[in-house]
Amino acid sequence: MKLNNEEINRYSRHLTLPEVGMAGQLELKESSVLMIGAGGLGSPLGMYLGAVGVGKIGLVDFDVVDHTNLHRQIAHTTSDEGRPKVESLRDTILGGNPNIEVEIHNIRLERDNVLELFKQYDIIADGSDNFETRYLINDAAYFSKKPLVSASIFRFQGQITIFSPETGGPCYRCLYSEPPPAALVPNWAVAGVLGVLPGVVGLIQATEVIKLILDGGAPLIGRLLLYDAMKMNFKEVRVRKDPECVLCGDNPSVTELIDYKAFCDVPLPGAEVPEEIDEAAYELSPQEFKDAMDQDPSAVLVDVRESFEWDICKIDGAQLLPLSSFEPASSGLDPEDSIYLYCYKGKRSMLALKELKKAGFKKLKNLSGGIDLWAEEVDSDMPQYWVEGGQTCPPYLLIKSWKFIQLNADSSTNFSTMSCVWCGGVSGRNLRFYRGQSRWYGITGNRLPNA
Ligand SMILES: [Zn+2]
Repeated sequence: MKLNNEEINRYSRHLTLPEVGMAGQLELKESSVLMIGAGGLGSPLGMYLGAVGVGKIGLVDFDVVDHTNLHRQIAHTTSDEGRPKVESLRDTILGGNPNIEVEIHNIRLERDNVLELFKQYDIIADGSDNFETRYLINDAAYFSKKPLVSASIFRFQGQITIFSPETGGPCYRCLYSEPPPAALVPNWAVAGVLGVLPGVVGLIQATEVIKLILDGGAPLIGRLLLYDAMKMNFKEVRVRKDPECVLCGDNPSVTELIDYKAFCDVPLPGAEVPEEIDEAAYELSPQEFKDAMDQDPSAVLVDVRESFEWDICKIDGAQLLPLSSFEPASSGLDPEDSIYLYCYKGKRSMLALKELKKAGFKKLKNLSGGIDLWAEEVDSDMPQYWVEGGQTCPPYLLIKSWKFIQLNADSSTNFSTMSCVWCGGVSGRNLRFYRGQSRWYGITGNRLPNA
């Protein structure tokens, strides 16, 4: 393969870079990259991969250009509205560089077409926006032995990494062994994204693709790069291959593509408990709760919220036993006592109540509506705290599984190395954690779970 005179002229600033040069430029020309997503990330990714002369670019997307895409999907113009995104992006890429080949796949990526498609390309670049597709792509890339350059965006934050178990790096499942409960997955249409965000993140993704092709520099393998546009900073989290990974670990149980829709249809923690109880039988309204406690000499009032919530307000006489570290056996509570539980909205305290019931406690009551309703109906002096956006602005941020924490954090469970599955936010002052049924959850400092 050779470059023609027009190409030599076009790529001259590459050819004079020793790290690229003629050999590197030919590598680019001979390489092929399959991009999943022709939207926000796909726009800069495709435009730059095309501009620098990646010989064959495949585009997968089944969506059409919508008016609301235009504030961030810069490969598409107003006149492209209604066109398939893959066609619009292809035209933009080829407009920038007619020397390359762009193949469009106006399809939804599925279990039965993904492997055939991946076979035709050297590198997979994932810019998809849902968990089902991400797990599908991860597994397919693993089975196809293709490096996967992965990027995602959410609101003001993005994350980028390369999954390459072939070369000793982790796969997506090493990082996120389970998808978040479906009910907690943000509605992307509502969650919003800063228009320029996919530009920055997509360009980093493009950079990593190009470096893989050139086999140069330090690739983002085993490193998760987190970008926060509001704080304007980058953070890096080291991520390791999980020996217990069901896909790329020592004893894999996922040995072929699975039903990803079913896999991602995860119920909320607490929604499934082994012994289902009649919750209503334990619920008291705020006034009933107060009256019952006042007349009960063995009443023990337990607050299962987190300490930062406790700092905002609490009911007099309560003791704090956060659900994040709640263990009936070590709680110091006496199974003979009457335990009155509350949290913010009554849901976390119901989880604690079920654990206590399992542990043999019999006299249990839950404050229906939590301290929030208590503030309205019993104690009007109590400050209420809430939560911009409510349900539509997802208050939950999913954190990695407990297994992952054990694997990646030190023995004191230093949360500073954890990051949010959705937004890439790293734990710290503004990101706190509590334990769900089988996982840890985090909430940002100014948003609290509706639980
Ligand atoms: Zn893995």
